[in-house]
Amino acid sequence: MPITAIYGPDDFAQSGHGQAAPTPRGRAGSAERALPMPWLEWTSEVERATAHLYERVKGVISPIEWPFMAPYIKAINELKVTRDAVILAHNYQTPDIFHCVADITGDSLQLAIEATKVKAGTIVQCGVHFMAETSKILNPHKRVLIPDSLAGCSLAASITGADVRLLRERFPGVPVVAYVNTSADVKAEVDICCTSSNAVEVVESLNAPTVIFLPDQYLAKYVASQTDVKIIAWKGACEVHERFTGDELRAYREADPSVQIIAHPECPPDVLAEADFTGSTAHMINWVRNKRPKRVVMITECSMADNVQAELPDVEMVRPCNLCPHMKRITLPKILDSLISLREEVVIDPMIAEKARRSVERMINLKN
Ligand code: SF4
Repeated sequence: MPITAIYGPDDFAQSGHGQAAPTPRGRAGSAERALPMPWLEWTSEVERATAHLYERVKGVISPIEWPFMAPYIKAINELKVTRDAVILAHNYQTPDIFHCVADITGDSLQLAIEATKVKAGTIVQCGVHFMAETSKILNPHKRVLIPDSLAGCSLAASITGADVRLLRERFPGVPVVAYVNTSADVKAEVDICCTSSNAVEVVESLNAPTVIFLPDQYLAKYVASQTDVKIIAWKGACEVHERFTGDELRAYREADPSVQIIAHPECPPDVLAEADFTGSTAHMINWVRNKRPKRVVMITECSMADNVQAELPDVEMVRPCNLCPHMKRITLPKILDSLISLREEVVIDPMIAEKARRSVERMINLKN
């Protein structure tokens, strides 16, 4: 069914939206000693030590680029051991990070679950700030670093905890589901979190006739189309996925009628209407792994297509390059600096973290 209502900051004049920064910044450094900068030259030793990693990415990183990346990759992999650190990388990270320095990769749900199993004392989150916050929420006693704390998200920035409290006042008793693409402040105010993989399942698990679903209006519309639960939505949007259009997809199909088009549910409805398959980041990857289409267009952030291309060279990827500028703030030099200087550390008010943890764990326990 269509969504029942859609709200935004303008509907709540006193919410303080835009006054309080929704994305807290990391702590600049650690009292622990910074390590010396490693030697970053392209040498035969670096070439030998990274040859097995280049094999993984040679389809998407040229031999001319590799000598600039390999010294960083070698240094980062060595420093992870020295710092007792693991690197978590989202599917939208570039292949040099995703395939060559990450220990755990996946979409936000996979990373949230894996974060709870990490043994190392330090987590370096290669993704955006809300992901690092989620790792900190689930690992309160570990050090969580993000190589650039300005790596935000248009969805997370679209709503505050105060907005959620005002929604609750307007709709008393209606449960609230928050997409994980929200700040800890918002997660602390909701009943349960969800990802694009489990959004319908989470909404239906509440056994309520109406649910407030925030902040992505397009994901809310997609969920509403898959369930009989009435959905009250928020006006947030992903600045990457909302740029795609139905016309663009029709042009791909006209150019090659046999092409398969798969889209993320953060895209607008006219885009999803043109797609052969709609699914979360993880579902899209599994669809390509299982179907092995000759040629596919992935309607999502473009590094994901690069990462799948590196894994499945037999599938031809058509890559509409909508980059997420926030994800691209994370680079090899910044990851190296993060490990050398132990910055920037993610810090969350313990009371907010405790409340946010309940919402995230409720989602994870549902999955388990
Ligand atoms: S791709 Fe969209 S949802 Fe993901 S981090 Fe970037 S702006 Fe946020």
